[in-house]
Amino acid sequence: MRQRNPRNPLSSSVFLYTVLTLLAIFLIVWTFITNNKQEYYTKTEYLLGTYVTVRVNGDNTSPVLLANAAFKEIKRIDKKFGNNNGIIGELNSSAGEWVEIDQETAFLLKSAIDVAKNTGGAFDPTLYPIIRLWGFDDINAEKRVPSSDEIEEALMSIGYENIELSPEGKRVRLLNGAQIDLSGIAKGYAVDMAIKKIKSIDESATGFIDAGGDIGIIGPKFGSRPWVIGIRHPRSEDADKVIDYVYMYDGAIATSGDYERFFEVDGVRYHHIFDPETGYPADNGVISSTVIHKSAMLADAYATAAFVLGDSPGVTFFPRFGALAFLVKKDLTVFKNAGFEVYLNK
Ligand code: ADP
Ligand code: MG
Repeated sequence: MRQRNPRNPLSSSVFLYTVLTLLAIFLIVWTFITNNKQEYYTKTEYLLGTYVTVRVNGDNTSPVLLANAAFKEIKRIDKKFGNNNGIIGELNSSAGEWVEIDQETAFLLKSAIDVAKNTGGAFDPTLYPIIRLWGFDDINAEKRVPSSDEIEEALMSIGYENIELSPEGKRVRLLNGAQIDLSGIAKGYAVDMAIKKIKSIDESATGFIDAGGDIGIIGPKFGSRPWVIGIRHPRSEDADKVIDYVYMYDGAIATSGDYERFFEVDGVRYHHIFDPETGYPADNGVISSTVIHKSAMLADAYATAAFVLGDSPGVTFFPRFGALAFLVKKDLTVFKNAGFEVYLNK
């Protein structure tokens, strides 16, 4: 008969159970710790005339701190470049005099002028008089269809060539009574800057910022997976209905739609994206335009331009400027720049 070794106080099965139990406890604790690390913090605030959501996490910093830093930066930009506030208000009442500007203002104005040039003026940062005439300068302003005389008159001061930046970028002057509205580019700029702020605090941060459809990626989900972004169906009552999905690891995507801000008179929809040539809401067959670009600022501005331009020839030259467009047309057919489809697959 075999006998147990009397020198071993633990029977081998007790030893085995102890090891297994410790291993199980370790696994549970480990899973808890790593899961916690991967959990995203999400915060939404009403800024820049829309709901802004920051979804973020970082290895080295509290995500709450990162989100708060992002919101602080967005608030700063909203105050500085929002409609007729801050420096824009000062410029709009400068009556053709030179106005001193800082580097940031010069950068944003120059970027807006570049997009205007690249899109043959479809994006135009001097549309303020037209936008105010229709009542789209303020959510509380009365919206109405102006007379054609009023539109003709307002159009006289419109044109990005009326923004004169001094060569060293320290001063600007508005010619021909021009007035500025940066709403078509400032939201995207705010997203870029907020991401920059987050990254300066914690380089490992990942997540995204969504400012009313202008989305910038901070970094891939859990460091390796794409963020799945739905392009809203432009003719569904259900705001969650999606026409297609894109998968993004980095960069930015912006959508402009005629469903975002509009009013109706006698069954006609008048929306907030204007054709700088006519002074009327753009009517080139597009009801929603989405643009992917490395920069959220440029995605924003090119998306506005894409809405005005349409697809023939319209946005066909966009890839030259690093922009890829996805247009939904009135009949709900879609036009995409070659290359956009890369983002439609995981
Ligand atoms: P949203 O605010 O719906 O995201 P956009 O980014 O397209 O839309 O910006 C639209 C805003 O830009 C309008 O509310 C108006 O203030 C301004 N805007 C309208 N048409 C143009 C245009 N052709 N070029 C530049 N800015 C425009
Ligand atoms: Mg835009």
